Amino acid sequence: MQRTAVEQVLRDIDAAFARLQAGAYGMCQGCGKPIPVERLEILPHARCCVPCEHRAD
Ligand SMILES: [Zn+2]
Repeated sequence: MQRTAVEQVLRDIDAAFARLQAGAYGMCQGCGKPIPVERLEILPHARCCVPCEHRAD
Protein backbone atom coordinates (compact mmCIF):
# COMPACT_ATOMS: atom_id res chain seq x y z
CA MET A 1 0.00 0.00 0.00
CA GLN A 2 1.30 3.43 -0.89
CA ARG A 3 1.87 6.02 1.82
CA THR A 4 -0.81 8.29 0.40
CA ALA A 5 -3.30 5.42 0.55
CA VAL A 6 -2.41 4.79 4.20
CA GLU A 7 -2.82 8.48 5.00
CA GLN A 8 -6.21 8.50 3.28
CA VAL A 9 -7.40 5.55 5.38
CA LEU A 10 -6.13 7.20 8.57
CA ARG A 11 -7.97 10.40 7.65
CA ASP A 12 -11.13 8.39 6.99
CA ILE A 13 -10.83 6.68 10.38
CA ASP A 14 -10.23 10.04 12.06
CA ALA A 15 -13.30 11.48 10.32
CA ALA A 16 -15.32 8.44 11.37
CA PHE A 17 -14.42 9.10 15.03
CA ALA A 18 -15.42 12.75 14.63
CA ARG A 19 -18.77 11.69 13.19
CA LEU A 20 -19.19 9.18 16.01
CA GLN A 21 -18.74 11.96 18.56
CA ALA A 22 -21.06 14.25 16.61
CA GLY A 23 -23.71 11.54 16.54
CA ALA A 24 -23.60 11.34 12.76
CA TYR A 25 -21.66 8.10 12.44
CA GLY A 26 -22.94 5.76 9.75
CA MET A 27 -24.55 8.50 7.69
CA CYS A 28 -23.57 8.70 4.04
CA GLN A 29 -21.60 11.85 3.19
CA GLY A 30 -22.98 11.71 -0.32
CA CYS A 31 -26.74 11.26 0.04
CA GLY A 32 -27.19 11.68 3.81
CA LYS A 33 -28.89 8.31 4.21
CA PRO A 34 -27.74 5.70 6.73
CA ILE A 35 -24.97 3.46 5.45
CA PRO A 36 -26.07 -0.23 5.58
CA VAL A 37 -24.74 -1.99 8.68
CA GLU A 38 -23.30 -4.77 6.52
CA ARG A 39 -21.09 -2.20 4.80
CA LEU A 40 -19.96 -0.67 8.10
CA GLU A 41 -19.04 -4.12 9.38
CA ILE A 42 -16.74 -4.57 6.40
CA LEU A 43 -15.54 -0.95 6.28
CA PRO A 44 -16.15 0.76 9.66
CA HIS A 45 -14.72 4.06 8.43
CA ALA A 46 -16.80 4.17 5.24
CA ARG A 47 -17.72 7.76 4.38
CA CYS A 48 -20.54 6.93 2.03
CA CYS A 49 -22.80 4.16 0.81
CA VAL A 50 -21.85 1.94 -2.12
CA PRO A 51 -23.84 3.84 -4.81
CA CYS A 52 -22.29 7.17 -3.73
CA GLU A 53 -18.80 5.67 -3.57
CA HIS A 54 -19.19 4.46 -7.14
CA ARG A 55 -20.53 7.84 -8.23
CA ALA A 56 -17.50 9.57 -6.70
CA ASP A 57 -15.15 7.37 -8.73
ZN1 LIG B 1 -25.04 7.61 -0.34
